[in-house]
Order: sequence, then structure tokens, then C-alpha cells
Amino acid sequence: MTEKTRLTRREMIAAAGAVPLAAGAARALAQDAQGQPMLGNPALPQPPGERLGWAIVGLGTFGVGQVIPGFGDARGSKMTAFVSGNPAKARDLGARYGVEHLYDYRNYDSMAGNPAIDCVYIVLPVGLHAEYTIRALEAGKHVLCEKPMASTSAECEAMIAAAKANDRRLGVAYRVHFEPKNREALRRIRAGEIGAMRYIQCDHGFNASLEYPPHIWRLQKTLGGGGSMYDVGIYGINTSLMMLEDEPVEVSAHYAYPRDDPRFAEVEGGIDWRMRMASGINVQGSSSYCYDPYAARQRYFGSQASIVMDPATTYYDNNLVMEGGGAPRRELGAGSSRQQFAAQVDGFSQAARENRPHLTPGEMGLRDMRLIEAMYRSADNGGAIVKL
Ligand code: NDP
Repeated sequence: MTEKTRLTRREMIAAAGAVPLAAGAARALAQDAQGQPMLGNPALPQPPGERLGWAIVGLGTFGVGQVIPGFGDARGSKMTAFVSGNPAKARDLGARYGVEHLYDYRNYDSMAGNPAIDCVYIVLPVGLHAEYTIRALEAGKHVLCEKPMASTSAECEAMIAAAKANDRRLGVAYRVHFEPKNREALRRIRAGEIGAMRYIQCDHGFNASLEYPPHIWRLQKTLGGGGSMYDVGIYGINTSLMMLEDEPVEVSAHYAYPRDDPRFAEVEGGIDWRMRMASGINVQGSSSYCYDPYAARQRYFGSQASIVMDPATTYYDNNLVMEGGGAPRRELGAGSSRQQFAAQVDGFSQAARENRPHLTPGEMGLRDMRLIEAMYRSADNGGAIVKL
């Protein structure tokens, strides 16, 4: 025993006395341990065995960074399969998340025989959406496909037809419909808190880089489908229409990007657009691969107040502000933006279970693609108005 650990005679007596006393008290308390009834009616997540099983197709930036972590908060959905062209990455992520069923793009169709997979989430480059969605539908799976739905409206129509032919649900992953701050804005707009909607302004963009692999395919026509409008401009169109009970009747658009920029040899770098609605109001937006910093904002001008969301469509930190209406500018809380990822997959699982359309169905993706195509037609004709 070293000098430091040696106890004094007084300390030894104190310690010896304390042990029986403490043990006695613990024994007395142990006798008080007894079960209690379950109080209240806690809203529990579904047991793992009852959740719908999902295959994630494409383990890229968004799939690994947002989709997979989002399942951590899911209550009715679970990941059961990964599809990847990189087996080592799939194995690593599979081990990390307890996902046993691993596929690649060659044995993809054999998912058909796997009862552990109910839903397939397509997180591939846009040019691959239609083919992999249709094959999953034909394999008997429900499909949630990332935005934009496909490269052309003809592809969107083929995807919808495949869902019908195979009696499966088809959704487009417009996560903003599940994001708490946007849902709160929608609730307030529907409740008349800004009065009549007069005008919507939206801007979405970032700086695309030829050096960054996830941007490279976005700058290629075959894999990207189109340019900034496909990737980020679509948020402006879809989110604005989410807030309106109104139909677009005409569109016009102008390209807006540096013509000598090597990034934009195949797709447009920017487009400024306008949608005229049946009610007579205008929605105006811009979409760009040439903005710094990242822009993701929506502004709703009403007859009595305005809602400003800046940012409006990001993953984690959207901001909801009301202005006017005789009250000071006020920031409104509405829950964490992070919840949108789990809410989206659970919403889709629920729709699949109940055999009803998802909140953001394939038809919505087709509608948006037709609008984008009309905007390109306008921009190709110097901004001419295109009637819908
Ligand atoms: P990435 O380039 O980061 O990932 C795409 C993944 O697709 C790759 O990692 C690869 O997965 C797979 N893939 C298969 N074939 C190809 C190919 N020829 N070229 C490149 N990748 C290929 O893209 P993102 O994750 O950013 O985007 C994927 C999808 O998600 C797109 O549809 C995009 O629009 C959408 N997205 C949606 C967002 C949203 O907020 N809703 C945000 C960002 C993207 P593997 O290595 O596993 O085979």
C-alpha cells in the first residue's frame, strides 16, 4: 500500500461502519420497487416489425447526408435495403445502420422477390429517375422519387402510367410540404392572416462548380435533365403553388446567366420567370446556378400582412416572419425544420398502407414539369407569353 492510499485508523473505522448501514438502506428501498400501470396513452412509434421497409437507391450527398439520417426520427418507416454502385460504401453504411439487403444497379430488379422492401426511394441523378422508378413499380414496390420527377413530362407520364398499371403509390419528394415552418405559413395563409394573397416573389440558387462531382452531373443535360430550374427553381414553383388555391394560366421567362461561362455548355445557368394565376395575381421567381450566397427565399405579399421566409426551403434552419397587419415584425416558431425528412417518409408509408395518394403525388411532379417546359418554351422565344 502506498502512502497515498493508506487509510488512517479513524478512516478505517468510519468506512467499516458505513457499509452495513448503506447496504441496509438499499435493501429497504429495493423492497419498494414495483411495477406501475402505463399512464396516459403515449403516442408510440410503430414497433419495428410493423413499419414499412424502404430501399434507398443512390447513396450520394443527399441520400447519405439527409435521407438516411432522417429515418432516425421515423415512426412508421424503416430502412431495409440500400442500392448502390459502390459495394464498399453500401456495406459500410449497411453495417452502420443495420441494413441487411444490399443491391446494385445490375440486380436491382430482384428486389421484386424481397418482402422486406415495401417502398423504394429514388435518390439518383434526374436523368435516371424515370427508368429506376418504373422498374421499382414493376417490381411491385411503392416509389417516392426525388425532385424534379424526371427529365421530361413524357417521362413523368410514363411513371404515372406504371404506377397505375402496377397499382402502386408514386410520390415526388417535395419535402417542403412536410416542413413545419412552411406548414405553419400555409396554415396562416389559409386562415386569412395575411388577407388576400396579392403577389409571391421567390429566389432560389447557388454557385455550381465544375470541380464538385454532385454538381458535375447537374451541368450535363442527360443526367441533370435541365439546368438550375430543374434543380432549385422548382422549389419556387412548387412551394408557391403549395400556398395558393389557384391555377397558373400563363407563364413567361427569360434566361439570365453569363453566356461565355464554361459551366453552362449544356444546361441553363439561370432563368427569371413569371406565372400568371387564374385569380389575376402573379408569382415571380428567379433560379440560378450563379448566386452567392445560397438563396432559398419565398415572400408572400397579402392585402393585410406579409410572410417572409428567408430561408424557406433549406434542410435545417428555415425562418418564418410575419410583417405588417398593424403589429411589429415577428418571428414565428413552428418546430424544427429537421423533422421534414422523417415526416415525408412516414407520410408516404401511411399513404401506401392506406392505399391512397401521397400528399405530393406523381401528378404534382408532372404538373411542375409541364410548367418548367412551358417556361423554357417562353425563354427560347425571347420571353413570349405561353398560355397553359
Ligand atoms: P450526388 O451526386 O451526391 O449522388 C447521386 C448518387 O447517385 C451517387 O452517389 C451514386 O450513388 C448514384 N449514381 C448512379 N449513377 C450515377 C451517375 N451516373 N452519376 C452520378 N451519380 C450516380 O447527388 P445528390 O445526392 O445531390 O442528388 C441526388 C438526387 O437527390 C437528385 O435527384 C437531386 O435532385 C435530389 N436532391 C434533392 C434534394 C432535396 O432537398 N429534396 C437536395 C439534393 C438533391 P452510389 O454511389 O450509391 O451508386
